[in-house]
Amino acid sequence: MTYRITGKSGEWELVCGLEVHCQIISESKVFSGASAAFGAAPNQHVAFLDAGFPGQLPVLNIKCVEQCIKTGMGLNAKINKHSVFDRKNYFYGDLPTGYQITQLFYPIVGEGYIEVETEDGKRKIGVERLHLEQDAGKSIHDMHPTYSYLDFNRTGVGLMEIVSKPDIRSPEEAGDYLRKLRAMVRYLGTCDGNMDEGSMRCDINVSVRLVGETEFRHRVEIKNVNSVKFVMQAIDLEAHRQVELYEAGESFPQETRLFDAASGETRSMRSKENALDYRYFPDPDLPPLELTDEYIENIRKNLPELPEAKRLRFIEQLGLPEYDAGILVADRDTAAYFEKAAQGQDAKKVANWVMGDLFAALNKDCLAITQSPVAPEQLGALVGLITQGVISGKIAKEVFEEMFKTGKNPDVIVKEKGLEQVSDTGAIEAMIAQILADNMDKVAEIHAGKDKLKGWFVGQIMKASQGKVNPGLANQLLDKKLAETKA
Ligand code: MN
Repeated sequence: MTYRITGKSGEWELVCGLEVHCQIISESKVFSGASAAFGAAPNQHVAFLDAGFPGQLPVLNIKCVEQCIKTGMGLNAKINKHSVFDRKNYFYGDLPTGYQITQLFYPIVGEGYIEVETEDGKRKIGVERLHLEQDAGKSIHDMHPTYSYLDFNRTGVGLMEIVSKPDIRSPEEAGDYLRKLRAMVRYLGTCDGNMDEGSMRCDINVSVRLVGETEFRHRVEIKNVNSVKFVMQAIDLEAHRQVELYEAGESFPQETRLFDAASGETRSMRSKENALDYRYFPDPDLPPLELTDEYIENIRKNLPELPEAKRLRFIEQLGLPEYDAGILVADRDTAAYFEKAAQGQDAKKVANWVMGDLFAALNKDCLAITQSPVAPEQLGALVGLITQGVISGKIAKEVFEEMFKTGKNPDVIVKEKGLEQVSDTGAIEAMIAQILADNMDKVAEIHAGKDKLKGWFVGQIMKASQGKVNPGLANQLLDKKLAETKA
């Protein structure tokens, strides 16, 4: 279904682009030696440089450069061997230097793309650029009725700003773009992707136009939306707002708006500034960044497997259905857990256990998969016990529950509780003979043609054996014993 808004003047389409700021995972800030760790008490991680003291000079953190290049490779993008740092000048309390160091004219990463899934198949959303810049501090306005507080811990932390092309045509595509990007940076270990903690922040550019128009109409920017769901909501709201205004013959300004999740509205924040307003110029304290082919290729060689490659491998090598593969690779930790559990086991069965019982149990206890009381090797061993016929699938559920509670190995639980499947046919036959003898009236009915009653007998056998008889074997032996009673 193509996303369209119907108005009096015709069908409108969405034109949307995203600017995503990703906080770089690194020990220290991008131009100072202060810690980049999240969550410290206010103003504990501040170097003189971050606080804008005179006489301080920036030193580029090469780890941040490496993280940008990795992410650029994940975006299938061109890595620029030559890039330049610029000053973006503006005043705000949480920016003590009065300028932000960023890359306007020569970013470190050029054009690339992210592939998204739509109902009409896959689409490539173009990426315009990725540039390296520093974060500003945090202004806290809600701790005192008349004062604002400043926390400089975040001042100078490295950011990757990833700018998409205006290729997004529906809120769903925007959502998928963000999810794909988030999975990718998490796989690469370049950003933790936590939107609610602000380590991944999204600005949205929205405009609309009548289907068939080739020019872009003017756009509205929505700042700092902090969840995938809110991004999708904000886009849909803003697109409808603009269509209504056009249809009413009203004009609206090119401006920056804020999304209020509580009221579900966007509201005006300021008129949109443009690049000229910031008086960008190359930072005189930082030489241009020149990278060698060797340096770049060395990073490429050590790149971990990315979600898309992993997904294809799960389908082709492990024989998983597309659906299962898609779910399992969406999160790096889940993929790693599954791969360990599936080692030497039936991969499809392991996938079922991960996506079924394990996800349910983790959800119930609000645990991440890395905190699972059942280790991947243990889940693999459980599946092994089913495959080898030691326990039935039904008993396995009981064993799994016990594993989740106690962390014990499945074979230990099976032994302790005597849950092995009965495969001694002599014992099963004796059990069946007894059940038949106790229910001769029903046996007679079966002989008279009421075949459906066989199911009832299988139920009795399962009950008598507490589920430890393999149902296939039970059926087979039941037929044998019924034939004997007939003769
Ligand atoms: Mn930026």
